Amino acid sequence: MAMRLTILGSSSSGNCALLCTDSCKVLIDAGFSAKRIAEMLGAAGHGLDQIDAIFLTHEHGDHCTGISGLARWPGIKIFANRGTAESVQRSLRHRPDWQLFETGSRFRFRDLEVESFSIPHDAIEPVGYVLAHGDGDLLSPRRSVAFVTDLGYAPELVRQRIRDVDVLVLEANHDLALLQRDTKRPWSVKQRISGRHGHLSNEAARDLMASVESPAWRHVCLAHLSRDCNSLSAVEAAFARFMQPGLGFALSIVPPDSGGPIFDLS
Ligand SMILES: [Zn+2]
Ligand SMILES: [Zn+2]
Repeated sequence: MAMRLTILGSSSSGNCALLCTDSCKVLIDAGFSAKRIAEMLGAAGHGLDQIDAIFLTHEHGDHCTGISGLARWPGIKIFANRGTAESVQRSLRHRPDWQLFETGSRFRFRDLEVESFSIPHDAIEPVGYVLAHGDGDLLSPRRSVAFVTDLGYAPELVRQRIRDVDVLVLEANHDLALLQRDTKRPWSVKQRISGRHGHLSNEAARDLMASVESPAWRHVCLAHLSRDCNSLSAVEAAFARFMQPGLGFALSIVPPDSGGPIFDLS
């Protein structure tokens, strides 16, 4: 196994993914309670005590609510930029082992190469990630995964960062018609969601895929679906052209109420 990605859960109610290599097990975001994360890890055959690090994208609760319950696991390193770390720390009673990085920097953690990049979202310093493994030779081919959720639109930098990865985890947050019809959210919240610092609609995510569509992609995983303002059938309809056989990559959708797919990258 070079690298295995397991989407433990992803929706606008909580996000957490597990990435395993031969040398480390890390989480990308911790947007469920620590208890729930432990349960999801257990179902996937892992334990919280095996987790080496967590990489946070931004301070919203659906990405880091679990940090408060991790005081019992002081050995887990929490990687974040300063803006995110300071914001999350304000609601904590313990001080995790923060590992601060500069947005845009590239660094190594064990056998992973980690690169963060800025994304437009209504948080203090939100980022996407590319995590890569392998030396790029025959014995150890380079494999990479991009996480791009929670963004109002995709600037050129984001397009560049997702172009060469093997697995792209991309937000398909809402269906525009379902969002407009939703009765739980006031107009101002709908404006925020669909705005330049909100979330990608199905249509916007599809257009982004169509404009970047890269021969490097092996899997594209649609994630961070809204429970109220999206549905599997709406996503399937919007992405129908990417579900045809014969494309260079496979498309999968993470249902809002269950775990997602597993990607083996050897
Ligand atoms: Zn989110
Ligand atoms: Zn967010």
